[in-house]
Amino acid sequence: MKLRHLLLPGSVVALGVLILDPTASHGYAVIGGKLNMNQRDVRVFNNFTDSAANNNTTQTADWPGYDGAELAIWKGCAEWASEPHGLTGAGDPSQASVGGSGANFDITWQGNAASVGGTNDNIHSEINGSSGGVLAYTETPINDGWRIRYYSGWLWNDGPGSSIGSGMDLQGIATHEYGHALGLDHSTAPGATMSAFASGNGVPDRSINSDDMAGVQSVYNILDLNKKPHIESVAGNGQPFVITGTQFQATDNEVWFTQSGTNTSGSAVKVGGLTSNGTTIVVYAPIDAGPGDMLVRKTSVTGPKGLSNAFPVIPELCGGSVANYCTAGTSANGCQATLSATGAPSSSSGGAFVIDATNVEGSKDGLMFFGTSGPQANSWGSGTSYQCVVPPVKRTGLQIGTGTPGLCDGTFSLDFNAWMAANPGKAPLPGTMVNIQAWYRDPQNTSNQSTSLSDGLQFTICN
Ligand SMILES: [Zn+2]
Repeated sequence: MKLRHLLLPGSVVALGVLILDPTASHGYAVIGGKLNMNQRDVRVFNNFTDSAANNNTTQTADWPGYDGAELAIWKGCAEWASEPHGLTGAGDPSQASVGGSGANFDITWQGNAASVGGTNDNIHSEINGSSGGVLAYTETPINDGWRIRYYSGWLWNDGPGSSIGSGMDLQGIATHEYGHALGLDHSTAPGATMSAFASGNGVPDRSINSDDMAGVQSVYNILDLNKKPHIESVAGNGQPFVITGTQFQATDNEVWFTQSGTNTSGSAVKVGGLTSNGTTIVVYAPIDAGPGDMLVRKTSVTGPKGLSNAFPVIPELCGGSVANYCTAGTSANGCQATLSATGAPSSSSGGAFVIDATNVEGSKDGLMFFGTSGPQANSWGSGTSYQCVVPPVKRTGLQIGTGTPGLCDGTFSLDFNAWMAANPGKAPLPGTMVNIQAWYRDPQNTSNQSTSLSDGLQFTICN
């Protein structure tokens, strides 16, 4: 048996000493206090030194974007949720449903931190060394956050299967330690995840039992779906997402996203001021939202009833949706001009979205034109080119030819974000699908009206 230590900075709680009410009929115990609504974030600083802590490289659709130690810890913390994660709770081989106990604390998963952080920065990480039989500990300045450390003296294993071989199960111990962060002390109930002693290698502790659930509900109240917002389904790719559920408010809903990349603050990516008919919210994923969870915050309600269940989503990464289509025409000298792009198409990001045409006839002028009525592939004249953009089309500025006459080394380049900024009346709105194509002079090619066309490029304007 291995003792898991609850560390209370500034207090004198000793190993194995429980704060218990001897008259209670339950086994759980509470520290006192609870996490505020702005302390729902969970991050991992992945400094785990055991290869076994990061050898699960399989991601699942229900837990998008993460594997290894991050995935194990994400699932461990999500076990305390109000509803099964993503409604099904699928994605963990050792239990039927992650979050299926309905304990009622919904987290906002915020991925990777850049450091171990301070004692109230809500970050999991390894700490060098060991401390007797202690596996891990939670620092809990309870109301304003926590920090969880795992001693490197143990062999940590990220699962995800229930047979983890040697070592301790990171997910199971994370489930226990996060219970401390939520305000629970050790429980005397048989089989409780909040027992002071790990159950075997910790795998059984991934699933909280009825005593753990009652403990967290004594702090954060029981689930009340007549008041708490609930996400039932999410459609779309983020440009936009259409959220269907219940108990959304008429105005000022917020949608919280997982931040993409390393999150240095822990804050969720939030979109506020959203209206709803009560059951539907339409939201554009911001440019910094990444794979992870979505939650709806009902700003008129304080306390746990003001935040929905967590639902896994993969926002369409701005620029990630850029796709070539249609067929480039062949010029008099055999050139087939092709479009490509770098960056994200957004008029608000401040960054560039550069569309390049390469393999153009050398030293021939041209331009790019676009439309917002969809793609097509209609013959252009009697030659090999196609008109790939459904009219009406808008022209961007004339570009002077580059390269060598007779060769295919001509190029055009257009920063579409800069063009949108300079032409606000013509710029497509966020969420609009754009089809763009390059046109250039090809005087020896009389069958094509002395011009040729590139292939097409399709993308959607991000928020
Ligand atoms: Zn403990």
